[in-house]
Amino acid sequence: MSAQEERRQAQELVAVIEREAKAAGRPLRFMEVCGTHTVSIFRAGIRQLLPENVELVSGPGCPVCVTPDSYMDKAIAYAERDDVIITTFGDMLKVPGSRSSLNEVRAKGADIRIVYSPLDSVKVAAENPDKKVVFLAVGFETTAPTAAATVIAAEKQGLKNLYMLSAHKLVPPVMHALLNDPDVKVDGFILPGHVCVITGTKPFAFLPAQYHLPGVVTGFEAVPILRSLARLTTMAARGEAAVENEYPSVVRTDGNPVSRQLTEQVYEPVDAEWRGIGMVPKSGLRMRDAFAAHDIERILPLDIQTVPKKTACRCGDVLRGVVKPVECPLFGKACIPTHAVGPCMVSVEGVCAAWYKYGRGRFIYGK
Ligand code: SF4
Repeated sequence: MSAQEERRQAQELVAVIEREAKAAGRPLRFMEVCGTHTVSIFRAGIRQLLPENVELVSGPGCPVCVTPDSYMDKAIAYAERDDVIITTFGDMLKVPGSRSSLNEVRAKGADIRIVYSPLDSVKVAAENPDKKVVFLAVGFETTAPTAAATVIAAEKQGLKNLYMLSAHKLVPPVMHALLNDPDVKVDGFILPGHVCVITGTKPFAFLPAQYHLPGVVTGFEAVPILRSLARLTTMAARGEAAVENEYPSVVRTDGNPVSRQLTEQVYEPVDAEWRGIGMVPKSGLRMRDAFAAHDIERILPLDIQTVPKKTACRCGDVLRGVVKPVECPLFGKACIPTHAVGPCMVSVEGVCAAWYKYGRGRFIYGK
């Protein structure tokens, strides 16, 4: 699409949003639950294009951000052992636990290696047979199939020293939790495109069925995001509720059955803790008993007591869309990307990091 055509379509869609928002005659709040959407919305300057009564809020869409202190404390405790090598995505290094971070223990000599895929851990395990190699399995439905494939690959190769510290999370259950939270006010969801590639649209059918709310599966360019917002505004203004797919090039109703089967073969749903939200029923993944030999928590359990830190960080409220990052007293002062106090400032897809990088000085903090 040419830049001119893109501009023309964007103007048309903004006009639809303005017309329908006016017809609604009330404030409308739409939430995205995907860190890539958070960044895309900022990059495209979409907030500035919206009418006064349409507000975008970010939910728990960044996997690093929703990982609680208790998980980080466990990861750090494993990293401190001489017989363990930790493999992890780079984002996790700066995430604070209740007493330290992986970066800090790495500086003191812990063997922590950054990988770009969970499958890279298989090679590390094969090269270090006298060590326990523990992959920090953090992510949503999108990364769980690759983690599952890693465990299956280790089984096939007879690698007994490759383990997972599982913190995979599922998006639909946490949306239920948000919608049952009286502090959270939302009129519709921009549904996560990457997650829906795997899950399909069916797991989000509860939105109209149980909450009479619309949801639109969305890609990551400016025009598709505006198209989804036009549909959300229209449905909200007219009192309609449906799940629609505005990312049909890659998202099907049933998702990707091969990836889903991989996840289901290795993992089962369990209750899981989310930062700022607490325990959410059946919102996490734990390895099934058949793969328990690769679950480090069952092979080498640690008794770690996490004492919550006293801090002004409002990550928990930010992740529920209850406050904006700028409402945190530390935002842009004590907490900046190079010196993050909370995890929402650590990840490039963290809400606070996105507000800091793209929002500063643009006079859009009110939105
Ligand atoms: S700005 Fe920093 S301290 Fe404040 S909520 Fe975000 S991550 Fe936490």
